[in-house]
Amino acid sequence: MDQSGGHPIESGRPSPSDDVPSGPGDQPTPAATEDARNAATPSFDSLGLSQETLAAVGRAGYTLPTPVQAGLIPRALAGVDVLGQARTGTGKTASFVLPILERVTRPGRAGGPRALVLVPTRELAVQVRDEFEKLAHGSKIHCVAVYGGKPIKGQIDKLARHPAVVVGTPGRVLDHMSRGTLSLGSLDIVTLDEADRMLDIGFRPDIEKILRRCPDSRQTLLLSATVPPPVQKLASRYMRDPEIMDFSVNELAVETIEQRYFTVDPTRKFELLERLLARERPRQVIVFCRTKRGTDKIHERLSRRRSLAAAGVACIHGDLAQSVRDRVMRQFREGTTRILVATDVVGRGIDVSSVSHIINYDIPEFCDDYVHRVGRTGRMGREGIAFTFVAPEEGAPAHPHRDADRAALGA
Ligand code: ADP
Ligand code: MG
Repeated sequence: MDQSGGHPIESGRPSPSDDVPSGPGDQPTPAATEDARNAATPSFDSLGLSQETLAAVGRAGYTLPTPVQAGLIPRALAGVDVLGQARTGTGKTASFVLPILERVTRPGRAGGPRALVLVPTRELAVQVRDEFEKLAHGSKIHCVAVYGGKPIKGQIDKLARHPAVVVGTPGRVLDHMSRGTLSLGSLDIVTLDEADRMLDIGFRPDIEKILRRCPDSRQTLLLSATVPPPVQKLASRYMRDPEIMDFSVNELAVETIEQRYFTVDPTRKFELLERLLARERPRQVIVFCRTKRGTDKIHERLSRRRSLAAAGVACIHGDLAQSVRDRVMRQFREGTTRILVATDVVGRGIDVSSVSHIINYDIPEFCDDYVHRVGRTGRMGREGIAFTFVAPEEGAPAHPHRDADRAALGA
């Protein structure tokens, strides 16, 4: 990393041999990892999926299942409860969407949806719904997303058309239950996606209320990037002898992400951001800030720079109206926005495959968020780079970063 002389910042790349407990000799080379992975990964044909589903998978352009898909799909098809732990960007969505599609194709109870997926954010509800639509192509299976911030009327109309699958945020799902517009009595399968995040943001009581209303005979799948004690507790209370599958070591996602940090005085962070953007010319970048106000401020300042504004700058956080959030995400996905300033609302689960750069303008409050933020780039083996700005008073730079890096490397 070149530094123009005398600038009061330094950058570095944590050396893997310092940060990973095993010695450098134990680290497989990328090529060896690749071979091992290909040898160990079966094809989609061998997972027990129907011809119709396999056709949709092919149409979606998925040629080989990811490890989490290869592991989870056969067990989920067998009808057992599964808890899958895998980092962000490893294809968890299809690992539950495909078994759900198979399950709801078989005859079942009438009167309500057959499958329910709970997710932490509105953006994720839309994204999971889209994955259902993509993979249900050619079938009659419908999926409806219910989430807050949107008029409830349209969702009530869609629910009245008896979709087989409902994806929603816990608050809105409860709302529909209490209005009588959603009944859970005919559910065969319930999925908790990003379970750690849902608990982090306080959805536990809502989730429990919902799960208590689901038939006891249901199958439950739980997906999470991390499995801290609260997630374990939820699983032990509401799942039946869950099979625990941990894919969190040696994963695809973070291997291809280069991670660097800068030590920078807070008053010079913006200047550094500008220089980085000018030098890196990212295809698409997410700049993460800690607070909503900070996010607004950086967005404003970037928008005032004509050269950057031309690239398309937008911001997203929880205080914006849902219509604005939807528009911002759409434009970012389409690529008309290249620079997105964001709080951690979009740090989890959101998949925009052309994100080439992540800039942590503020260091994340929690190590977990770091993993999720950098997981926005380098999706599915694409290359990505993450820069983290560390203010001197945020501690010796090596420490927060090293801890975060350990987590990111699954160490
Ligand atoms: P996670 O939920 O683990 O964060 P996602 O389910 O959002 O990951 O998947 C990340 C990206 O990978 C998505 O763009 C998805 O379309 C793509 N994807 C999923 N499975 C495969 C596969 N088997 N082959 C290629 N791409 C895949
Ligand atoms: Mg996900």
